[in-house]
Amino acid sequence: MRIGSGIDVHAFGPGDHIMLGGVRVPHSRGVVAHSDGDVVLHALTDALLGAAGLGDIGQHFQDTDPRWKGADSKRFVRGALEMLRARKLRVGNADVTVLAEAPKLAPIREQIRQGLEQLLEVPPGAVNVKATTTEKLGFLGRAEGIAAQAVVLLLDAP
Ligand code: MG
Repeated sequence: MRIGSGIDVHAFGPGDHIMLGGVRVPHSRGVVAHSDGDVVLHALTDALLGAAGLGDIGQHFQDTDPRWKGADSKRFVRGALEMLRARKLRVGNADVTVLAEAPKLAPIREQIRQGLEQLLEVPPGAVNVKATTTEKLGFLGRAEGIAAQAVVLLLDAP
């Protein structure tokens, strides 16, 4: 059994939507990023890699690599899962927190949660998605960007 955590932050920038946990969410801003800038999937990828002792997302998927320009961040999660499988590890459960003033997560929380369960190939109930604001404090409170944190537990694959 191994535990890992991940954190990711992206600044808001020009655009009309953001990607959150693989879900396209209409928003008054986009995010500044090399890939699709999905903070949930980036935090999750780092948690998976961290739990397996495999470094971080930047080592495996460089943000200067043209292959990842505008990339669907599910590719990073799938890449990390492949590395886990090679080490006979599987995901037990995952807990994700989105930190932002906006957009509001409630209407899409369940869609994100179920999508993450499919992506991680885990049974229903194995992924939890939470949201919080920072009570208007700091860069998140000023709605300058969005952040996510993820914690995962890895189990030995049979
Ligand atoms: Mg990122």
